[in-house]
Amino acid sequence: MVRRRKNLLLAGCMTGLLMALSSSTALAADNSSEEEVRYHQLADGETLGTVAMQYQVGIDELLTWNDLESVHVPPETTLVVKSSEEVKGSSEPLPVIHVIRRGDTFEGIARRYGVSIRQVQRWNRRLNPRRLQLGAQVRLHIPGADGKSVSYGAANGGRLYNGVAMQTTPGMRVRNVARSYGTQRVVRLLQAAGADVQARWPDAPDLVVGSLSVRNGGRLRPHRSHQSGRDVDLTYYHRGNVELPDFRDMSVETFDAVKNWHLYKTLIDSGQVEFMFIDYQLQRALYDYAISIGYTPEDLEPILQYPRGANVRAGIIRHSRGHLNHVHIRFTCGPEDRGCH
Ligand SMILES: [Zn+2]
Repeated sequence: MVRRRKNLLLAGCMTGLLMALSSSTALAADNSSEEEVRYHQLADGETLGTVAMQYQVGIDELLTWNDLESVHVPPETTLVVKSSEEVKGSSEPLPVIHVIRRGDTFEGIARRYGVSIRQVQRWNRRLNPRRLQLGAQVRLHIPGADGKSVSYGAANGGRLYNGVAMQTTPGMRVRNVARSYGTQRVVRLLQAAGADVQARWPDAPDLVVGSLSVRNGGRLRPHRSHQSGRDVDLTYYHRGNVELPDFRDMSVETFDAVKNWHLYKTLIDSGQVEFMFIDYQLQRALYDYAISIGYTPEDLEPILQYPRGANVRAGIIRHSRGHLNHVHIRFTCGPEDRGCH
C-alpha cells in the first residue's frame, strides 16, 4: 500500500511537470490539481478498455491523456484516468440542432422541445428571435439543460438528445459517422469493449460499426428501431482475425466464438444490455465455447436462448432473422434517459 502510494505520487509529479510544460494554464490551477487528475495502476486482467468502463471515460480520452498511440500498454502501467485536458473530437455530447423553417418562433421551438424560451435565447445569443432566417441553426441542450446525452422514448419511436458521434477508435471502425450517433454512455461502452478485445488479442481486427442513430434520433431507414441512440449493429469477429470490409454472412466455421463471446460477455456484465439479436446457429457456437471453458448450462440460461429453440423468448442473446451477418445490440435505459422504455 505504501509502495503504491509512492508510485502514484511520483507519477503525479511527473505528469504535473509535463502538464506545466505543455500548458501554461496548468500553472494557474492552485490547489485544485488533485481534483483534476486521477490515476489508476493497471492490475492483472485489466486493460485500457476495462479501465474506461470502470471510470466511465472515453477510450479516446485515455489515449490522449496518457499520450498513447495504441491500447497495448505494459502491465502495471499507471494511467491518467481523469483529467481536465480537453480531447479533440472526443465522445462529448453535442447539442441538438433545429433548422429554422417557415413559421418557426423561439416560443414554438421552446414548446416543441420542452424547454423555456429563456433557455433557447441563452443557447443562441447570436440569433435575433424577431428576425429568424430560414435555414438558421438553433442549438438546444435538451431535455437536460446540463447537456448530458439523453435517449428519449422508445427505440422504435423515440429521439436522441445531445447525442455523441461515435468515431473510429482501436477495435471499432465507424462506417458512416452521420448514422453513428448514440448516447455518450452507449458510445463509450462500445468503444471500451472493442478496445478491450484488441488489448487482449493484439491481432484482433476492428469491427465494422453499422448504424446507431442519426444525430437527433427519429426514423433511420430501413430500421424500425435505432431511433433513440440505444441500438447498434456490429459485424462479428471472423476466425483467423480476418478483417471484414463490411457485413458478411457467418457460419459456425467462420465465427470466432472466443472473441465474440468475450465481447458480448463484457457488455452483458456491464449490466447495460437489454438484448442482442444473433442468429440461432451462431448462438450454438457461443454456447459450445462457453461450456468448453467451464460455464454450466445453468450459468448460460439467462444469457443465451440456445438450446431452447429459436422461438423461445428467453436469454439476453436471441435469434432474429437477418442477423447472420451482424449482431444487433439494444442497450438498457440509462439513469440520464427520459421516458425511456
Ligand atoms: Zn439493427
